[in-house]
This record gives sequence, structure tokens and C-alpha cells, in this order.
Amino acid sequence: MAIPRFGTQARSGRGHNHQALINFDLNPEDLESYLDEYVIGQAEAKAVLATKMCTHFRRVRYMLEKGSRFNDAGFVKNNVIMIGPTGVGKTYMVKLLAQKLGVPFVKGDATKFSETGYVGGDVEDLIRDLVQEADGDVERAQFGIVYLDEIDKIASSGNLIGPDVSRTGVQRALLKPLEETEVDLRVPHDPVSQLEAIEYYRRTGQRKRRTINTRYILFVVSGAFSGLEEIIKKRLHKQGLGFMAEVASKNEAEMNYLRFVKTEDLIAYGFESEFVGRLPVITIFDPLTVEDLYAILCNPNSAVIVNKKRDFRAYGIDLVFEDEALKLLAEQAEIEKTGARALVRVIERVLIPFEKRLPSVGAKFLVVTKELVEDPQAWLSHLENTLRDPSWEGRYQKALEQETERIKKFVSERKKSFSRGHNLKLTPERLELAIKLHRRDDLDIHQALEELFILLRQVKNYERSFERRSGFKVTFSEEAVDRILKHIIEMDQGVYAYCDRIVNLLEYGLRLINERTGKVNFVIPPEAIDHPEEYLNRLIRQTYQPK
Ligand code: ADP
Repeated sequence: MAIPRFGTQARSGRGHNHQALINFDLNPEDLESYLDEYVIGQAEAKAVLATKMCTHFRRVRYMLEKGSRFNDAGFVKNNVIMIGPTGVGKTYMVKLLAQKLGVPFVKGDATKFSETGYVGGDVEDLIRDLVQEADGDVERAQFGIVYLDEIDKIASSGNLIGPDVSRTGVQRALLKPLEETEVDLRVPHDPVSQLEAIEYYRRTGQRKRRTINTRYILFVVSGAFSGLEEIIKKRLHKQGLGFMAEVASKNEAEMNYLRFVKTEDLIAYGFESEFVGRLPVITIFDPLTVEDLYAILCNPNSAVIVNKKRDFRAYGIDLVFEDEALKLLAEQAEIEKTGARALVRVIERVLIPFEKRLPSVGAKFLVVTKELVEDPQAWLSHLENTLRDPSWEGRYQKALEQETERIKKFVSERKKSFSRGHNLKLTPERLELAIKLHRRDDLDIHQALEELFILLRQVKNYERSFERRSGFKVTFSEEAVDRILKHIIEMDQGVYAYCDRIVNLLEYGLRLINERTGKVNFVIPPEAIDHPEEYLNRLIRQTYQPK
């Protein structure tokens, strides 16, 4: 990536170095694809967030590059409101985007503001946290993301007096930071931060910057907004029949009225128009269905399953889930109505007895079956009584196959995203290899593909270094490369050592052929990897055979 160089005339006007800041070269669709690898459903929110966050940082870069010549007085930030129930991926998505963009991220809670009545200070604390997240790098923190949850709790409820006044007060106090304000980095009268400043001066001979401007900090706020749907419904009814007829033609019960939200609904909900005005992007998150929850469990990148597997791995136990068990877990979780959060709870509830007992009996694997999920205690006793039963091994292998199939399906349904992210032609063989790495090293599938790509590049590098060294060019065919990767992964060997061994076996023969025919380019087929000597014999026979 070309790291943007910003002139010393950069907008901040302080001559600071903005290099190596942010992954600025991404496009909205790169981010959207990245989200697709992790987040189930929420297509619209993915598109909106990926686009607006990307544009925000692109615009920041543009302005910084133009420097003082560019008048950005009219800069309107793409601050975002996210509306949706708990546990459906709101935080997850913003966090993933922040990571991918390489910007610091902090999350705070708006309810705290109305309780403490000290909004200014609380927001400033968050901004200071952002600097900490950026390892003290104020330059990076300037472009960070501040996430405020439970924003619906600072809506006034209309006709009440009392706490409402303070809620409106909270909204007003947020106006400035949402747009632009200078935040003091040192907590006033805090001896620790003053000592830090002295220490910084001693080390660098420079005075530490004392403030941070929120102009380029992106704010994302979210909440469940219960009751908002009613407001929208009412407005739609008032607006007339044409629209409602369209709505009614779909299934009324399944209709997510939130989709039709407008600024005026948020104002009716209890927000000041100025406040809503600072948050020009609205996006809706859907509740997760049983199918979505099942898909989350099938996702090889899903933290829920990966974490649980690691818990058991810590005792040397391989944890595998049968399909039917995952379906049942998804159904149980859906009843709780807390989105994906319920998955963690349900899985813990079911597995804790096994996590306690199995390490003592020396189990090597645990197959999570439907029966286990239905009645964990009964299944545990059954398991203990049949521990040495060889049929378990068969069931374990079958569950492993099911898991492999799930991963393949998941990746092939998102082939475009996965190939885009890794710049790797994703053949079925390579997917198998990535799954091996995923299992062997407990990597998520995104990381496993990245790892595979690194290995692949090493093979290419080896080809080049061999050419420099020997004077002739050896190119492994695509299949041969896959074969090499397979051996390396299975035997946990280094690429160079492995390729060297193969090529050393071949080199003498290749030289003979070169002397005889002058040939300098050799494409190495997969059979040369599996049976180098036979391959070479054949090649030499062909060369020396009298025509
Ligand atoms: P909220 O919507 O309340 O901010 P989170 O985004 O924090 O909820 O979700 C909690 C966890 O549940 C996430 O860390 C993630 O592991 C999982 N999760 C939630 N929604 C999804 C989703 N749509 N796809 C995949 N995983 C999800």
C-alpha cells in the first residue's frame, strides 16, 4: 500500500506527520466483502456502514493532502445512527471496520451521561481513551471512531418535566464534540498526567500536544429505540393508503417498519433536531432469525465457536459439533431474544458439565450431538459409561466431515469476498489446505487463507532465488504448488527447506538435460513432487531416446 504522504501544510496546520496512519487505499466494496466474511445477514447495514466509513476516511485524506489550499469549512461528518436490537452485530461491525481501516476505536454508554450529569467530562474521557487506544498517538486518535451505545436513553419523552430536561441537556452537550471541539488531553489537576507530560518532555525534548480536535473523529451511536416503530407506523398511516397498501401486501407481522425511519420520527421520539442533524446517516439492523443464528454457528470465523473450541483444546480435547446439534442450539438461543449473545450463553450452559468432567477422564475429543444439547447431564453419564466404545471414533470422524462441509459451503457462498481479501485463486484444493491450517493452528478461516497466501508467495520467491543461483528457471505448476503446500502443512515444515530438498534431487538431472538440449525453462508437474526420481528418469529417457 502506498502510504499517503501529507504535506506539512496539512489541515491541522501544525506540521505533524500523518504517515502510516490509516489503511486509506480501501474501497467501500473491499470493506463490505471483509464484513461478509464475519457478519451474518445485515446486508443493508453492511453496505451503508462500509460505504460511509470508507468515504469519511477518504475525505479526510483528500483534505489533508490538499492542505490549507482546500477550504473544508463545510465539512459535514458522516456520523452514524444504528438502530436495532441487542446482540445483532452493531458493535461487532464497527469494530471490524475500525480494525480493517487501522483506526482506534472506543465504546461508551450514553446512559452514563444522563446519570452523572457531567456530559462534557464524560465525552472528553472517551476521547482521551481513544488516545490511549492509539498508544498515545494523538495523530492517529484524531481519526478514531467513538461508539456511543444506548443513545435512545437520552431521548426526552416529550411532555414530562424533570429528568427530561437533563436528557435534552445531554443531547446539547454532545453537539459540539459530534462536530468539532478541542479536548484537553491532560485531565485537569491530575498529577499523573502532569508527571507524564514532564517525562515526555525529558525524553523527547518536545512539549506533548495538549489537546485533540474532534473534527475528524467519527461518531457512531446506537440503540434499540423501543417504541420508535409505533411512531413510524402512525406516520405511515397518516401519510395515506397507497403506502400502507404496499406495506400490507407484504406480511404485516414480518414487516420491519424501522426501515422507513425518517428524521422526523427521531424528533418525535425525543431528539432535538439539531442533535439528529449531526448524525446524517441512519442504518437499521434486523433481529437475527434461527437461520441466522445457525449460520453464525457454521461460520468458521465465528468467535463463539472458535472460543469454545479453544477452551477444550486447552485440555487437549478436540471439540466438534454435529449439524443437528448446531440447529438445536440456534433454536434454543432464538428464544432468548438477545441475538447472538444468547448463543454464547446457551453453549456455555450445555458444555460446562463436560468442560468440568472430561479433563479428568482423559478424553481426546467431544462430539456435541443433538442428544447432548437436549439433556447434557444424561448425556454425560451415558458418555462416561461408554467412554471406551470404539463407535465414538466413527461418530467423531463423521462430525469432522460435517464441519469440513460447513466450512466449504460457507466459503463457497462468499467466494468473491474471500478471494478479494486474499488475492488468492481459491481452488477446492487450497480451501482444503486452509481448513487444515484452520484446524491445526486454531486460526480463523480468514487468517488461515492469509497464512496460505504467505506460503504461496514463499514458493514463488524460492523459484526466483533458485533461478538466480542456478541460471535456469524452475516453475512449479499450479498443481505442484498445491502439492508442496499440502506437504508443508502436513509435516509442519518450512517452504525453503522443503523446496530445496525437492529441487536438489532434480537439479543434477535438469543440468544433464540442459547440457544436452540447451533447455533452461522447466515446468515442474505434481508427479515430480511426489516421486522426484521416477519423474527425472522419465525426463532423461525422453531426452536421450534416439529419435
Ligand atoms: P450489539 O448489536 O448489541 O452491538 P454485538 O455486535 O456486540 O451486539 O454482538 C455480540 C457478539 O455476537 C459479537 O461479538 C459477535 O461475535 C456475535 N454476533 C452478533 N451479531 C452477529 C452477526 N450478525 N453475525 C455474526 N456474529 C454476530
